[in-house]
Amino acid sequence: MQERFAVVGAGIAGLMLARELRARGREVVVLEKSRGFGGRLATKRIDAAVFDSGAQYFTAKTPRFADLIEEWSGRGVVRPWPGASGRRWIAHPSMNALGKYLAQDIEVRRESKVVSVQRENGDWRIEIENAAPLVARSLALTAPVPQSLALIKAGGVALPQPLQGELNALTYHPCLALLLVLEGPSQVPADGLAFSTGPVRWLADNTRKGVSPGSAAAVTVHLSPAFAAEHYQQTEQELAAALLPVISPYLGSPVAKMALHRWRYSEPESTHTQSCVWLEDLQLGFAGDALGGPRVEGAALSGLDLAQTVLGA
Ligand SMILES: Cc1cc2nc3c(=O)[nH]c(=O)nc-3n(C[C@H](O)[C@H](O)[C@H](O)COP(=O)(O)OP(=O)(O)OC[C@H]3O[C@@H](n4cnc5c(N)ncnc54)[C@H](O)[C@@H]3O)c2cc1C
Repeated sequence: MQERFAVVGAGIAGLMLARELRARGREVVVLEKSRGFGGRLATKRIDAAVFDSGAQYFTAKTPRFADLIEEWSGRGVVRPWPGASGRRWIAHPSMNALGKYLAQDIEVRRESKVVSVQRENGDWRIEIENAAPLVARSLALTAPVPQSLALIKAGGVALPQPLQGELNALTYHPCLALLLVLEGPSQVPADGLAFSTGPVRWLADNTRKGVSPGSAAAVTVHLSPAFAAEHYQQTEQELAAALLPVISPYLGSPVAKMALHRWRYSEPESTHTQSCVWLEDLQLGFAGDALGGPRVEGAALSGLDLAQTVLGA
C-alpha cells in the first residue's frame, strides 16, 4: 500500500507515465474524473454520429514519438488521416481509442474526481469525490496545471519557489467545439480546413475522416481562442446563429442536430522549461502538455520523461 504510485489524470501524459512505471514493476493507480480514457484525445456522439471533439490529429517531430506511432500503427490503434499527407495521424476508429488502448492492463479508476491531495505521515492522502480516500507513497499530477495546483492548494501543500511561481504562470487557451450533424454530405475538405483569422479556427468532417458512419456529415467546428474566451458561456444555438454566415459555405446541407463542448483548458499558451517536474523529497511529480509541449506529442513524452526520472531517481 505505501509503495503505491498514484497518477491523477488518464490523458495521454498520465497513461504513458502509468504504463512505463507499471512495466518497471511499480504498483500504479490512475484516478480519472471522467467516464472515458484519453482526456483531450476525446470522442463525442450525437445519436449515431461520431466526432473527434478535442485533438484532431497528431504529428511526430521527434524520433521517439515517431517510434511510438509506428508501434501503435502496427497494432492498428492509429492510422494516417485519409486524404491528408501521411504525417497526420489519427486514432482508430476515433481519437479516444488511443486512450482506451493505453489504459489496458493499468488500474484506472474512472469517475474518480480528486478534490485535494495532502501530506500525511510521509505519504499522500488523496481525497476523491464520493469515494474513500486513497493513500499512496508517490503522486503525479497530469491534469492541466491550474487544476493540479488547485488540488495542492486544497490540501494545504506548499511547493518550493521558484517552482510555484513558474507553474502559476502556465495558462491555457479556451476552445469551444461545436458539433454539427448535417442532413446530408458537407463541403468541408477531406483533410479539414484551418482558418487563420475570424471566429472559426478549424472545421473537419468526421464522416469524410472515417470516424463517423453513414453518409450524413458530422462536422467538428473549433472556435478561435479569442472568440471562445469572449463567448465562453453562450449556448450552441447562440453560437451557431453567430457562426452560420462564416461556415455555411462549407456545410452544404442543413444542420439536423448540434451539441457544444467547452474546453476550459485547450492548449497551453506557454510551456515550462522542463518536460516534467519531479520533487524527490515530496515524492510529487507534474507532467502534461504545459511541460512537454503544447500537443499530443509533448504530453506523451512528458509522461514518459517523468517515468524515467522517477525510475532513475
Ligand atoms: C479543441 C482541442 C484541439 C486540439 N487539437 C490538437 C491537435 O490537432 N493536435 C495535437 O497534437 N494536439 C491538439 N490538442 C492538444 C492535445 O489534445 C493535448 O496537448 C493533449 O491531449 C494533452 O494531454 P494531457 O495528458 O497533458 O492532458 P489531458 O488530456 O487534459 O489529460 C488530463 C486528464 O486529467 C483529468 N483530470 C483533470 N482534473 C482531474 C481531477 N481533479 N481528478 C481526476 N482526473 C482529473 C482529465 O479529465 C483528463 O482526462 C487539442 C486540444 C483541444 C482541447
